[in-house]
Amino acid sequence: MGNTTVGKDIQLTDLAQNYNSILFAYGSSQDRDLNIPGENLPGVFSARQFVGWYNGLPEHSGLNPPLESCETVSIIGNGNVALDVARVLLCNPDQRLKSTDITEEAYSVLKKSNVRHVRIVGRRGILQSAFTTKEIRELINEPGVAMTKIDERYIQPYRGFINLLDRSKKRMLQLIEKTSKAYDPLVVKEQNLKTFSLDYLLSPVTFYPGNTPSTLSATEFNINVLQQDEISAPAFAVTTNQTVRLENDLVFKSVGYKAVPIHGMEQLGILFDEKRGIVPNSLGRVLIHDSNGTIDIGKGLYVTGWVKTGPTGVIASTMREAFEVAESIIEDFYSNKLNIDLKPGFEGVKDKISKSTRIVNWEDWQKIDQAEINNGQLLGKSRNKFKTIEEMLNVLD
Ligand code: NAP
Repeated sequence: MGNTTVGKDIQLTDLAQNYNSILFAYGSSQDRDLNIPGENLPGVFSARQFVGWYNGLPEHSGLNPPLESCETVSIIGNGNVALDVARVLLCNPDQRLKSTDITEEAYSVLKKSNVRHVRIVGRRGILQSAFTTKEIRELINEPGVAMTKIDERYIQPYRGFINLLDRSKKRMLQLIEKTSKAYDPLVVKEQNLKTFSLDYLLSPVTFYPGNTPSTLSATEFNINVLQQDEISAPAFAVTTNQTVRLENDLVFKSVGYKAVPIHGMEQLGILFDEKRGIVPNSLGRVLIHDSNGTIDIGKGLYVTGWVKTGPTGVIASTMREAFEVAESIIEDFYSNKLNIDLKPGFEGVKDKISKSTRIVNWEDWQKIDQAEINNGQLLGKSRNKFKTIEEMLNVLD
């Protein structure tokens, strides 16, 4: 199973014929959209592209956001991805990134960056912040970076309720409040610190182009109020008729990811929830439309990872989900729910795939891995990633 990719010469139906079971584990490869004016301007990047770029994904090579011409950046959304983006934008590249496996391209762009302030914007309130306390603490403790004072109106509504909050929310609120109180603009000036702010109850409505083709001038936000029946009830952002226009040179959208269906799923009757970007399932068992059009469990079809759950959870929770799916597979095997006829597996699809694709097996992958590590040693880094698939394949020829 692990050797096979679905491409132009290999279809899911070919896999279904040659394997007893298929496990979809391909994650969320696309951005959620905001669908607002200006979203396609060159100064609006998605966090997914940016993270892919500094991590060396070939599809994002050459992204090179114009950080040299920017001072203020807004990040839309306040999940852990937003904080990752903020940290990379604000940290000292020489001290924090140089020896890591960040691409040389990203390192050199970040080294020339003139970004001084990152505004992290949530559409709901402080208690609905999507980041975890561990990650916001890491950003707060980033050397050379200070969090600016938080607007009192975000915290004030909760003062009377702090003891009713669950432990993690309470700790998060206390940490933010303490950090906000400690903010001193004089220290920021004297020590030439970079800054970030946590802004809340703002939904972007328009991005405005800037003076250069690659930058922005501002983002207009709707000002929201929070609708929540009681402290433990779900909280919704409700827009007011007021807007605010905040200057920024660049925007990163960090509003989540979504998975897309694989070509051929429909032919196998596999359901796909376009809205959530997931394959509907029962404990990892894929749901299909059977020949009568009713919804059933697809024999030998499984799903795991973000294409199962949606883009949520830290690595440990994704692993836990994967163990559950493995248990479902084992259970089906021992209760004779899997087809156990002898099928050719990879041998049955190999010729078709190799017509258009250079097959990379485990030994090949190890050679590419070793080449990246060796190249990194020359630069004093843990590895130097190849920028393109062609460069990777060159190691093998
Ligand atoms: P996320 O945690 O789901 O955060 C998405 C953010 O986007 C939320 O603030 C959400 O606000 C906002 N949002 C969504 N739609 C919006 C819209 N139309 N307008 C304005 N804001 C909108 O997603 P993520 O940051 O991409 O992270 C994905 C998962 O990976 C998370 O579970 C995260 O914890 C995990 N992760 C973990 C780490 C780590 O452990 N170090 C690092 C990176 C990612 P609402 O809450 O109001 O919807």
